[in-house]
Amino acid sequence: MSETIREKKENCGLFGIYGDKDAVGKTYLALHSLQHRGQESAGIASSDGEEIQLYSGMGTVRRVFRAGSTILSKLANPIAIGHVRYSTSGGSSAANSQPLLSEYSRGQVAIAHNGNLINAMLLRDEYEAYGSIFKSTSDTEIITHLLAKPSHVSKADPLGHVLKHLQGSYSLVFLFADYIDAARDPFGVRPLCIGRTVEGAYCVASETCAFDAIDAEFVREVEPGEIVRLDKKGLTSRFFVEPGTVTPAHCIFEHIYFAKQNSTIFGENVHEFRKKLGRQLAIEHPADADVVIPIPDSGISAALGFAERSRIPFDMGLVRSHYIGRTFISPEQSLRELAVNLKLQVIKEVVHGKRIAVVDDSIVRGTTTRGKIRALRQAGAREIHMRVSCPPIRHPCFYGVDFPTKEELLANNRDLDQIKEFLGVDSIGYISLQGQLGCATFPPDHYCTACWSGKYPIPVDIAVNKFAMEHYQMRMFDKQDD
Ligand code: SF4
Repeated sequence: MSETIREKKENCGLFGIYGDKDAVGKTYLALHSLQHRGQESAGIASSDGEEIQLYSGMGTVRRVFRAGSTILSKLANPIAIGHVRYSTSGGSSAANSQPLLSEYSRGQVAIAHNGNLINAMLLRDEYEAYGSIFKSTSDTEIITHLLAKPSHVSKADPLGHVLKHLQGSYSLVFLFADYIDAARDPFGVRPLCIGRTVEGAYCVASETCAFDAIDAEFVREVEPGEIVRLDKKGLTSRFFVEPGTVTPAHCIFEHIYFAKQNSTIFGENVHEFRKKLGRQLAIEHPADADVVIPIPDSGISAALGFAERSRIPFDMGLVRSHYIGRTFISPEQSLRELAVNLKLQVIKEVVHGKRIAVVDDSIVRGTTTRGKIRALRQAGAREIHMRVSCPPIRHPCFYGVDFPTKEELLANNRDLDQIKEFLGVDSIGYISLQGQLGCATFPPDHYCTACWSGKYPIPVDIAVNKFAMEHYQMRMFDKQDD
Protein backbone atom coordinates (compact mmCIF):
# COMPACT_ATOMS: atom_id res chain seq x y z
CA MET A 1 0.00 0.00 0.00
CA SER A 2 1.51 3.21 -1.06
CA GLU A 3 2.79 6.06 1.00
CA THR A 4 1.37 8.70 -1.30
CA ILE A 5 -2.11 7.20 -1.48
CA ARG A 6 -2.48 6.56 2.23
CA GLU A 7 -2.97 9.89 3.93
CA LYS A 8 -3.16 8.45 7.41
CA LYS A 9 -0.44 6.08 8.42
CA GLU A 10 -0.47 2.88 10.38
CA ASN A 11 0.99 2.63 13.75
CA CYS A 12 3.23 -0.45 14.08
CA GLY A 13 2.67 -4.18 14.39
CA LEU A 14 3.92 -6.55 17.08
CA PHE A 15 4.48 -10.27 17.40
CA GLY A 16 6.02 -12.61 19.99
CA ILE A 17 6.26 -16.38 20.38
CA TYR A 18 7.71 -18.59 23.13
CA GLY A 19 9.03 -22.15 22.92
CA ASP A 20 8.80 -23.03 19.23
CA LYS A 21 11.64 -24.57 17.25
CA ASP A 22 10.69 -22.33 14.32
CA ALA A 23 10.03 -19.25 16.46
CA VAL A 24 12.11 -16.93 14.27
CA GLY A 25 10.68 -18.24 10.97
CA LYS A 26 7.16 -17.87 12.37
CA THR A 27 7.94 -14.35 13.55
CA TYR A 28 9.12 -13.51 10.04
CA LEU A 29 5.87 -14.83 8.51
CA ALA A 30 3.76 -13.08 11.14
CA LEU A 31 5.50 -9.77 10.44
CA HIS A 32 4.73 -10.20 6.73
CA SER A 33 1.08 -10.57 7.67
CA LEU A 34 1.28 -7.40 9.80
CA GLN A 35 3.16 -5.43 7.16
CA HIS A 36 0.12 -3.19 6.49
CA ARG A 37 0.67 -1.67 9.97
CA GLY A 38 4.07 -0.23 9.08
CA GLN A 39 6.64 -0.35 6.32
CA GLU A 40 9.39 1.99 7.54
CA SER A 41 11.43 -0.55 9.46
CA ALA A 42 11.30 -4.13 10.66
CA GLY A 43 13.16 -6.18 13.24
CA ILE A 44 13.35 -9.49 15.08
CA ALA A 45 14.93 -10.19 18.48
CA SER A 46 15.37 -13.79 19.61
CA SER A 47 16.73 -15.64 22.62
CA ASP A 48 18.10 -19.09 23.36
CA GLY A 49 17.04 -18.65 26.99
CA GLU A 50 20.24 -16.89 28.00
CA GLU A 51 21.19 -14.31 25.44
CA ILE A 52 19.19 -12.04 23.14
CA GLN A 53 20.20 -11.34 19.56
CA LEU A 54 18.71 -8.61 17.39
CA TYR A 55 18.50 -7.74 13.73
CA SER A 56 16.57 -4.72 12.48
CA GLY A 57 16.75 -2.25 9.64
CA MET A 58 14.95 0.20 7.42
CA GLY A 59 12.27 -0.92 4.97
CA THR A 60 9.75 -3.72 4.63
CA VAL A 61 10.15 -7.18 6.17
CA ARG A 62 11.19 -8.57 2.79
CA ARG A 63 13.82 -5.90 2.37
CA VAL A 64 15.31 -6.16 5.86
CA PHE A 65 15.38 -9.97 5.90
CA ARG A 66 16.51 -10.37 2.31
CA ALA A 67 15.67 -13.61 0.54
CA GLY A 68 18.69 -15.89 0.40
CA SER A 69 20.48 -14.14 3.26
CA THR A 70 21.54 -16.02 6.37
CA ILE A 71 20.05 -13.48 8.78
CA LEU A 72 17.12 -15.63 9.89
CA SER A 73 19.21 -18.76 10.41
CA LYS A 74 21.69 -16.77 12.53
CA LEU A 75 18.80 -15.56 14.69
CA ALA A 76 17.26 -19.06 15.03
CA ASN A 77 16.19 -19.49 18.66
CA PRO A 78 13.04 -20.81 20.36
CA ILE A 79 11.89 -17.43 21.78
CA ALA A 80 11.36 -14.44 19.50
CA ILE A 81 9.60 -11.11 19.13
CA GLY A 82 9.22 -8.91 16.05
CA HIS A 83 8.12 -5.45 15.04
CA VAL A 84 7.12 -3.52 11.93
CA ARG A 85 7.15 0.24 12.30
CA TYR A 86 5.54 3.32 11.02
CA SER A 87 6.94 6.23 13.03
CA THR A 88 4.34 8.05 15.10
CA SER A 89 6.87 9.33 17.63
CA GLY A 90 10.46 9.97 16.63
CA GLY A 91 11.72 10.16 13.07
CA SER A 92 12.13 7.39 10.55
CA SER A 93 15.69 6.15 11.19
CA ALA A 94 17.51 2.90 11.86
CA ALA A 95 18.26 4.00 15.44
CA ASN A 96 14.51 4.18 16.07
CA SER A 97 13.76 0.78 14.53
CA GLN A 98 12.46 -1.88 16.88
CA PRO A 99 12.70 -4.10 18.85
CA LEU A 100 14.90 -1.81 20.96
CA LEU A 101 17.57 -3.89 22.71
CA SER A 102 19.13 -2.69 25.96
CA GLU A 103 21.03 -4.08 28.91
CA TYR A 104 20.46 -3.10 32.54
CA SER A 105 21.10 -4.50 36.01
CA ARG A 106 18.64 -7.40 35.48
CA GLY A 107 20.11 -8.37 32.09
CA GLN A 108 18.96 -7.78 28.54
CA VAL A 109 15.54 -6.66 27.39
CA ALA A 110 14.17 -6.07 23.89
CA ILE A 111 11.00 -3.96 23.54
CA ALA A 112 8.47 -3.67 20.72
CA HIS A 113 5.79 -0.97 20.99
CA ASN A 114 2.59 0.01 19.18
CA GLY A 115 1.08 3.30 20.29
CA ASN A 116 2.19 6.70 21.50
CA LEU A 117 3.43 7.73 24.94
CA ILE A 118 2.10 11.21 25.59
CA ASN A 119 4.38 11.85 28.57
CA ALA A 120 7.58 10.45 27.01
CA MET A 121 9.18 13.85 26.58
CA LEU A 122 8.54 14.90 30.17
CA LEU A 123 9.97 11.62 31.44
CA ARG A 124 12.97 11.89 29.16
CA ASP A 125 13.77 15.42 30.36
CA GLU A 126 13.57 14.16 33.93
CA TYR A 127 15.87 11.19 33.29
CA GLU A 128 18.37 13.21 31.27
CA ALA A 129 18.59 15.70 34.12
CA TYR A 130 19.85 12.79 36.25
CA GLY A 131 22.41 11.75 33.63
CA SER A 132 20.60 9.09 31.58
CA ILE A 133 21.88 8.73 28.03
CA PHE A 134 19.42 7.93 25.25
CA LYS A 135 20.38 6.27 21.99
CA SER A 136 17.24 7.03 19.95
CA THR A 137 14.51 9.67 19.60
CA SER A 138 11.70 7.14 19.98
CA ASP A 139 9.23 7.44 22.87
CA THR A 140 9.66 3.70 23.49
CA GLU A 141 13.19 4.04 24.87
CA ILE A 142 11.98 5.76 28.02
CA ILE A 143 10.47 2.42 29.10
CA THR A 144 13.96 0.88 29.32
CA HIS A 145 15.12 3.71 31.55
CA LEU A 146 12.09 3.33 33.78
CA LEU A 147 12.78 -0.41 34.05
CA ALA A 148 16.42 0.21 34.98
CA LYS A 149 15.73 2.72 37.75
CA PRO A 150 16.96 1.06 40.99
CA SER A 151 13.81 1.96 42.96
CA HIS A 152 11.72 0.29 40.24
CA VAL A 153 13.91 -2.82 39.91
CA SER A 154 13.33 -3.63 43.58
CA LYS A 155 9.52 -3.70 43.26
CA ALA A 156 7.65 -7.01 43.49
CA ASP A 157 6.45 -6.55 39.89
CA PRO A 158 8.87 -4.05 38.31
CA LEU A 159 7.16 -4.06 34.90
CA GLY A 160 3.68 -3.57 36.35
CA HIS A 161 5.08 -0.71 38.44
CA VAL A 162 6.78 0.89 35.42
CA LEU A 163 3.67 0.72 33.23
CA LYS A 164 1.78 2.82 35.74
CA HIS A 165 4.15 5.70 34.90
CA LEU A 166 3.18 5.70 31.21
CA GLN A 167 0.44 7.90 29.76
CA GLY A 168 -0.99 7.36 26.30
CA SER A 169 -1.57 4.29 24.22
CA TYR A 170 0.63 1.23 24.30
CA SER A 171 0.53 -2.38 23.33
CA LEU A 172 3.96 -3.73 24.26
CA VAL A 173 5.92 -6.94 23.86
CA PHE A 174 9.04 -7.43 26.01
CA LEU A 175 11.61 -10.12 25.40
CA PHE A 176 13.69 -10.98 28.43
CA ALA A 177 16.32 -13.74 28.20
CA ASP A 178 13.95 -16.56 29.15
CA TYR A 179 10.42 -15.21 28.87
CA ILE A 180 8.12 -12.79 27.07
CA ASP A 181 5.81 -10.27 28.75
CA ALA A 182 3.06 -8.63 26.68
CA ALA A 183 1.04 -5.70 28.02
CA ARG A 184 -1.79 -3.44 26.96
CA ASP A 185 -2.57 0.04 28.30
CA PRO A 186 -5.52 0.40 30.72
CA PHE A 187 -7.70 1.91 27.94
CA GLY A 188 -6.95 -0.88 25.44
CA VAL A 189 -6.48 1.71 22.67
CA ARG A 190 -4.44 -0.53 20.35
CA PRO A 191 -5.26 -4.22 19.86
CA LEU A 192 -3.16 -7.10 21.20
CA CYS A 193 -4.18 -10.74 20.85
CA ILE A 194 -3.09 -14.12 22.21
CA GLY A 195 -2.76 -17.19 19.99
CA ARG A 196 -1.55 -20.77 20.20
CA THR A 197 0.21 -22.79 17.52
CA VAL A 198 -0.80 -26.34 16.63
CA GLU A 199 2.36 -27.47 18.44
CA GLY A 200 1.11 -25.71 21.60
CA ALA A 201 3.39 -22.66 21.69
CA TYR A 202 1.77 -19.43 22.89
CA CYS A 203 2.14 -16.28 20.81
CA VAL A 204 0.93 -12.66 20.87
CA ALA A 205 0.22 -10.33 17.95
CA SER A 206 -1.30 -6.95 17.16
CA GLU A 207 -3.89 -8.64 14.98
CA THR A 208 -5.14 -12.18 14.52
CA CYS A 209 -4.13 -12.15 10.83
CA ALA A 210 -0.62 -12.92 12.15
CA PHE A 211 -1.97 -16.16 13.67
CA ASP A 212 -3.57 -17.12 10.35
CA ALA A 213 -0.12 -16.76 8.74
CA ILE A 214 1.45 -19.37 11.05
CA ASP A 215 -1.52 -21.69 11.44
CA ALA A 216 -2.11 -20.70 15.06
CA GLU A 217 -5.52 -20.38 16.69
CA PHE A 218 -6.80 -17.19 18.29
CA VAL A 219 -7.20 -17.69 22.05
CA ARG A 220 -8.33 -14.27 23.30
CA GLU A 221 -7.33 -10.61 23.47
CA VAL A 222 -4.93 -9.29 26.11
CA GLU A 223 -7.25 -7.28 28.38
CA PRO A 224 -6.69 -3.56 28.97
CA GLY A 225 -4.35 -3.18 31.97
CA GLU A 226 -3.20 -6.83 31.74
CA ILE A 227 0.28 -8.31 31.42
CA VAL A 228 0.55 -11.86 30.07
CA ARG A 229 3.71 -13.89 30.48
CA LEU A 230 4.81 -16.55 28.02
CA ASP A 231 7.39 -18.87 29.55
CA LYS A 232 8.09 -22.54 30.25
CA LYS A 233 4.95 -22.71 32.43
CA GLY A 234 2.81 -21.68 29.46
CA LEU A 235 0.67 -18.56 29.77
CA THR A 236 0.07 -16.64 33.00
CA SER A 237 -1.70 -13.35 33.58
CA ARG A 238 -1.55 -10.44 35.98
CA PHE A 239 -3.11 -6.98 36.04
CA PHE A 240 -1.29 -3.74 36.75
CA VAL A 241 -4.60 -1.84 36.87
CA GLU A 242 -7.61 -3.27 38.67
CA PRO A 243 -9.94 -4.71 35.96
CA GLY A 244 -13.13 -2.68 35.46
CA THR A 245 -11.76 0.52 37.01
CA VAL A 246 -11.02 2.24 33.67
CA THR A 247 -13.55 2.64 30.84
CA PRO A 248 -11.91 1.28 27.68
CA ALA A 249 -11.17 3.54 24.70
CA HIS A 250 -10.53 1.17 21.80
CA CYS A 251 -9.46 3.00 18.66
CA ILE A 252 -12.45 2.47 16.38
CA PHE A 253 -10.32 3.60 13.46
CA GLU A 254 -8.55 0.24 13.73
CA HIS A 255 -11.84 -1.35 12.69
CA ILE A 256 -12.61 1.22 10.01
CA TYR A 257 -9.24 1.42 8.31
CA PHE A 258 -6.05 0.06 9.89
CA ALA A 259 -6.65 -3.58 10.65
CA LYS A 260 -6.67 -6.30 8.01
CA GLN A 261 -10.05 -7.64 6.89
CA ASN A 262 -9.42 -11.19 8.13
CA SER A 263 -8.42 -10.00 11.62
CA THR A 264 -10.61 -10.17 14.69
CA ILE A 265 -9.99 -7.27 17.05
CA PHE A 266 -12.08 -5.72 19.83
CA GLY A 267 -14.28 -8.81 19.73
CA GLU A 268 -15.27 -8.63 16.06
CA ASN A 269 -14.09 -9.53 12.57
CA VAL A 270 -12.92 -6.44 10.70
CA HIS A 271 -14.53 -7.27 7.34
CA GLU A 272 -17.93 -7.97 8.92
CA PHE A 273 -17.74 -4.74 10.90
CA ARG A 274 -16.96 -2.71 7.76
CA LYS A 275 -19.85 -4.33 5.91
CA LYS A 276 -22.16 -3.30 8.76
CA LEU A 277 -20.87 0.27 8.40
CA GLY A 278 -21.66 0.13 4.67
CA ARG A 279 -25.21 -1.05 5.34
CA GLN A 280 -25.73 1.70 7.92
CA LEU A 281 -24.32 4.27 5.47
CA ALA A 282 -26.84 3.13 2.85
CA ILE A 283 -29.66 3.63 5.37
CA GLU A 284 -28.47 7.11 6.33
CA HIS A 285 -27.42 8.29 2.85
CA PRO A 286 -29.01 6.26 0.06
CA ALA A 287 -27.75 6.99 -3.46
CA ASP A 288 -29.59 6.90 -6.77
CA ALA A 289 -26.88 5.05 -8.66
CA ASP A 290 -26.34 2.31 -11.27
CA VAL A 291 -23.27 0.82 -9.63
CA VAL A 292 -21.41 0.91 -6.28
CA ILE A 293 -17.63 1.02 -6.51
CA PRO A 294 -15.13 0.97 -3.64
CA ILE A 295 -11.89 2.86 -3.20
CA PRO A 296 -9.61 -0.16 -2.84
CA ASP A 297 -8.45 -1.76 -0.67
CA SER A 298 -9.89 -0.62 2.65
CA GLY A 299 -13.17 0.71 1.16
CA ILE A 300 -14.14 -2.66 -0.34
CA SER A 301 -15.91 -4.21 2.66
CA ALA A 302 -18.02 -1.08 3.35
CA ALA A 303 -18.91 -0.82 -0.36
CA LEU A 304 -20.10 -4.44 -0.30
CA GLY A 305 -22.38 -3.64 2.64
CA PHE A 306 -23.60 -0.45 0.94
CA ALA A 307 -24.39 -2.29 -2.31
CA GLU A 308 -26.11 -5.14 -0.46
CA ARG A 309 -28.39 -2.83 1.50
CA SER A 310 -29.07 -0.53 -1.50
CA ARG A 311 -29.69 -3.45 -3.88
CA ILE A 312 -27.37 -1.77 -6.38
CA PRO A 313 -24.76 -3.90 -8.23
CA PHE A 314 -21.22 -3.83 -6.78
CA ASP A 315 -18.30 -3.59 -9.17
CA MET A 316 -14.61 -2.74 -9.20
CA GLY A 317 -14.28 0.60 -10.98
CA LEU A 318 -10.78 1.25 -9.64
CA VAL A 319 -7.89 -1.16 -9.49
CA ARG A 320 -4.82 -0.76 -7.33
CA SER A 321 -1.28 -1.66 -8.33
CA HIS A 322 0.42 -3.42 -5.44
CA TYR A 323 3.80 -3.40 -7.09
CA ILE A 324 4.84 0.22 -7.55
CA GLY A 325 5.35 0.72 -3.80
CA ARG A 326 7.86 3.37 -2.85
CA THR A 327 10.40 2.45 -5.48
CA PHE A 328 9.26 5.08 -7.95
CA ILE A 329 10.47 8.33 -6.46
CA SER A 330 10.82 10.94 -9.16
CA PRO A 331 12.09 14.44 -8.46
CA GLU A 332 9.69 15.77 -11.13
CA GLN A 333 6.31 16.85 -9.72
CA SER A 334 4.52 15.94 -12.97
CA LEU A 335 5.97 12.43 -12.94
CA ARG A 336 5.13 12.00 -9.26
CA GLU A 337 1.48 12.79 -10.06
CA LEU A 338 1.52 10.26 -12.87
CA ALA A 339 2.99 7.72 -10.45
CA VAL A 340 0.02 8.29 -8.13
CA ASN A 341 -2.32 7.59 -11.06
CA LEU A 342 -0.44 4.38 -11.68
CA LYS A 343 -1.20 3.18 -8.16
CA LEU A 344 -4.97 3.43 -8.68
CA GLN A 345 -6.40 3.14 -12.18
CA VAL A 346 -9.95 3.34 -13.52
CA ILE A 347 -11.69 0.48 -15.33
CA LYS A 348 -13.44 2.67 -17.90
CA GLU A 349 -15.90 -0.02 -18.99
CA VAL A 350 -17.35 -0.16 -15.46
CA VAL A 351 -17.95 3.58 -14.99
CA HIS A 352 -18.55 5.03 -18.48
CA GLY A 353 -22.01 6.63 -18.78
CA LYS A 354 -23.02 5.42 -15.30
CA ARG A 355 -24.27 7.05 -12.12
CA ILE A 356 -21.82 5.73 -9.57
CA ALA A 357 -21.77 5.59 -5.77
CA VAL A 358 -18.13 5.69 -4.64
CA VAL A 359 -17.54 4.27 -1.14
CA ASP A 360 -14.41 5.01 0.89
CA ASP A 361 -13.62 4.26 4.52
CA SER A 362 -12.48 7.82 5.34
CA ILE A 363 -11.28 11.10 3.88
CA VAL A 364 -8.37 12.92 5.48
CA ARG A 365 -6.88 15.75 3.39
CA GLY A 366 -9.12 15.01 0.44
CA THR A 367 -6.49 15.71 -2.19
CA THR A 368 -6.05 12.08 -3.24
CA THR A 369 -9.83 11.50 -3.19
CA ARG A 370 -10.26 14.53 -5.44
CA GLY A 371 -7.70 13.05 -7.85
CA LYS A 372 -9.62 9.77 -8.00
CA ILE A 373 -12.94 11.58 -8.59
CA ARG A 374 -11.35 13.52 -11.45
CA ALA A 375 -10.09 10.28 -12.99
CA LEU A 376 -13.59 8.76 -12.75
CA ARG A 377 -15.09 11.81 -14.49
CA GLN A 378 -12.47 11.59 -17.23
CA ALA A 379 -13.43 7.96 -17.70
CA GLY A 380 -17.02 9.05 -18.42
CA ALA A 381 -18.87 8.67 -15.11
CA ARG A 382 -22.19 10.53 -15.49
CA GLU A 383 -22.85 11.23 -11.80
CA ILE A 384 -20.61 10.61 -8.79
CA HIS A 385 -22.10 10.19 -5.31
CA MET A 386 -19.44 9.99 -2.60
CA ARG A 387 -20.27 7.93 0.49
CA VAL A 388 -17.90 7.67 3.46
CA SER A 389 -18.09 5.00 6.17
CA CYS A 390 -16.72 7.23 8.95
CA PRO A 391 -17.78 10.74 10.03
CA PRO A 392 -15.82 13.85 8.93
CA ILE A 393 -12.33 13.84 10.54
CA ARG A 394 -11.76 17.16 12.30
CA HIS A 395 -9.19 16.50 15.02
CA PRO A 396 -5.66 15.03 15.19
CA CYS A 397 -4.78 11.77 16.93
CA PHE A 398 -2.35 11.70 19.86
CA TYR A 399 -2.58 7.96 20.44
CA GLY A 400 -0.40 6.53 17.70
CA VAL A 401 -1.90 7.45 14.34
CA ASP A 402 -0.07 9.93 12.16
CA PHE A 403 -2.75 12.23 10.75
CA PRO A 404 -1.86 15.53 9.07
CA THR A 405 -2.23 18.69 11.16
CA LYS A 406 -5.72 19.94 12.03
CA GLU A 407 -5.41 22.72 9.46
CA GLU A 408 -4.75 20.17 6.69
CA LEU A 409 -7.83 18.06 7.45
CA LEU A 410 -10.48 18.47 4.74
CA ALA A 411 -13.40 18.65 7.17
CA ASN A 412 -11.75 21.22 9.40
CA ASN A 413 -13.43 24.58 8.68
CA ARG A 414 -15.46 23.19 5.73
CA ASP A 415 -19.16 22.37 5.69
CA LEU A 416 -20.61 19.55 3.58
CA ASP A 417 -21.34 21.81 0.58
CA GLN A 418 -17.75 23.04 0.58
CA ILE A 419 -16.45 19.47 0.84
CA LYS A 420 -18.70 18.43 -2.06
CA GLU A 421 -17.39 21.31 -4.14
CA PHE A 422 -13.75 20.61 -3.23
CA LEU A 423 -14.05 16.96 -4.24
CA GLY A 424 -16.10 17.70 -7.36
CA VAL A 425 -18.88 15.20 -6.58
CA ASP A 426 -22.64 15.40 -7.18
CA SER A 427 -23.51 14.47 -3.60
CA ILE A 428 -21.71 13.47 -0.42
CA GLY A 429 -22.80 11.51 2.64
CA TYR A 430 -20.81 10.56 5.75
CA ILE A 431 -22.03 7.98 8.26
CA SER A 432 -23.04 9.58 11.57
CA LEU A 433 -20.97 8.98 14.70
CA GLN A 434 -24.03 7.48 16.36
CA GLY A 435 -24.59 5.19 13.36
CA GLN A 436 -20.94 4.14 13.37
CA LEU A 437 -20.91 3.32 17.07
CA GLY A 438 -24.20 1.48 16.69
CA CYS A 439 -22.40 -1.03 14.44
CA ALA A 440 -19.82 -1.87 17.14
CA THR A 441 -19.81 -4.78 19.57
CA PHE A 442 -19.04 -2.89 22.76
CA PRO A 443 -21.06 -0.02 24.26
CA PRO A 444 -20.47 3.37 22.53
CA ASP A 445 -18.45 4.77 25.44
CA HIS A 446 -15.90 1.93 25.12
CA TYR A 447 -14.33 3.48 22.00
CA CYS A 448 -12.09 6.42 21.31
CA THR A 449 -13.77 8.73 18.78
CA ALA A 450 -11.54 11.78 19.34
CA CYS A 451 -10.63 12.36 15.68
CA TRP A 452 -14.33 12.99 14.96
CA SER A 453 -15.67 14.26 18.28
CA GLY A 454 -12.61 16.04 19.70
CA LYS A 455 -13.24 14.27 23.02
CA TYR A 456 -9.93 12.74 24.06
CA PRO A 457 -10.38 9.86 26.53
CA ILE A 458 -6.77 10.13 27.76
CA PRO A 459 -6.02 13.74 28.70
CA VAL A 460 -3.65 15.43 26.29
CA ASP A 461 -2.40 18.39 28.26
CA ILE A 462 0.99 18.82 26.64
CA ALA A 463 1.92 19.63 23.07
CA VAL A 464 2.73 16.36 21.37
CA ASN A 465 3.92 15.82 17.88
CA LYS A 466 5.72 13.08 16.05
CA PHE A 467 9.06 14.89 15.96
CA ALA A 468 8.88 16.37 19.44
CA MET A 469 11.92 14.40 20.54
CA GLU A 470 14.02 15.22 17.49
CA HIS A 471 15.25 18.39 19.17
CA TYR A 472 17.58 16.19 21.16
CA GLN A 473 19.61 16.14 17.95
CA MET A 474 21.06 12.75 18.47
CA ARG A 475 23.96 11.77 16.31
CA MET A 476 22.73 8.56 14.84
CA PHE A 477 24.39 6.17 12.48
CA ASP A 478 22.20 4.05 10.28
CA LYS A 479 22.68 0.34 10.83
CA GLN A 480 22.39 -0.25 7.13
CA ASP A 481 22.28 1.81 3.99
CA ASP A 482 18.79 2.78 2.97
S1 SF4 B 1 -8.13 9.79 17.82
FE1 SF4 B 1 -9.04 8.52 16.16
S2 SF4 B 1 -7.30 7.38 15.28
FE2 SF4 B 1 -6.63 8.19 17.29
S3 SF4 B 1 -7.04 6.53 18.77
FE3 SF4 B 1 -8.85 7.87 18.76
S4 SF4 B 1 -10.23 6.94 17.22
FE4 SF4 B 1 -8.18 6.10 16.90
